[in-house]
Amino acid sequence: MSETTGAPIQGLSARAYRIPTDRPEADGTFAWNSTTLVFVTVEAGDQSGIGYTYADACAASLVGTVLAAAIRQKNSFDIPACWNAMQRAVRNIGRSGVAACAISAVDTALWDLKARCFDVPLAQLLGAARTEVPVYGSGGFTTYTDEQLREQLSGWVEHNGCRAVKMKIGSEPERDPRRVLAAKAAIGGACELFVDANGAFSVKQALRFIRRCREAEIRWFEEPVSSDDAAGLGRLRDLLPGATEVAAGEYIYTLDDARTLLSAEAVDVLQADVTRCGGITGMMRIGALCEAHHIDLSGHCAPSLHRHVACALPRVRHLEWFHDHVRIEQMLFDGAPLASDGVIRPDPGRPGHGLTLKERDAERFAIPAGE
Ligand SMILES: [Mg+2]
Repeated sequence: MSETTGAPIQGLSARAYRIPTDRPEADGTFAWNSTTLVFVTVEAGDQSGIGYTYADACAASLVGTVLAAAIRQKNSFDIPACWNAMQRAVRNIGRSGVAACAISAVDTALWDLKARCFDVPLAQLLGAARTEVPVYGSGGFTTYTDEQLREQLSGWVEHNGCRAVKMKIGSEPERDPRRVLAAKAAIGGACELFVDANGAFSVKQALRFIRRCREAEIRWFEEPVSSDDAAGLGRLRDLLPGATEVAAGEYIYTLDDARTLLSAEAVDVLQADVTRCGGITGMMRIGALCEAHHIDLSGHCAPSLHRHVACALPRVRHLEWFHDHVRIEQMLFDGAPLASDGVIRPDPGRPGHGLTLKERDAERFAIPAGE
């Protein structure tokens, strides 16, 4: 392939891996004991690119059938054309949810391929605004004992230099004040405490929670109510103490989802997930929307994939150093970042995302096609 013109896309394939969690996990509205990663490879000329999403395994069959047919023979560098073709192809399936996750994985693979053709890190291809991006530790599942909670959260402060950490709340609201105060005591005064209710509360329940936990000085309240309730988020933004920011956006699948939250003035900080929102292409567009609304952006989960695009977007405040995904990305990929001094950064010596699948390590987690 010419490194400056691209080549026709010849291959697009996907595999799904199911990785058990290290302990049972739950948040305010869901419980799980495994995480599925759908891994995508795109080939054009003599180059290939990789991408992935955390989604149900059925996303893999969507990639190999509908999306492969939509972009086959298109020029690998014409990523907006591929993106539009994929969006059109899923019109009757539904653009959100699984389809958006599948498209995101393909889009990130196309960007990886393009950066590999130029032999540069993706952040350099996109145009970097910075060389590193802050991360906050994230986990603190409601299934944890107080001791496990304290150990995990303080570990991110002591070992990774995180200046903020996030815990889950909402599955047993009566336990939450004790858990939150235990967490605050464990991380120390210099580290900010974030909480995520995953939409478990009503507006009044969320206000009651904050009142009961005043001493914990919670700085970030994520999805206190369902992110479908933009008006409720906006009311809480007005009613919560000034230092407590409202965040939401992890279920943004289209640019319109982002516009809805921003134009409703629902959040102090918008979140978006490159593995759901349309990939690097979607994230760059959401970054521009945030600029226009003077709202910061925070990357949700999948830190290895977010780090390059985060360096290209001036409005990105930080990324989520999510326990499950950090663990999986270390297990499955050579080149996955390690957080130190509270930041991660692209590796200037590795092109594209800088990631290579550890095929042999991944194989034992492979889900047979059709399962
Ligand atoms: Mg969340």
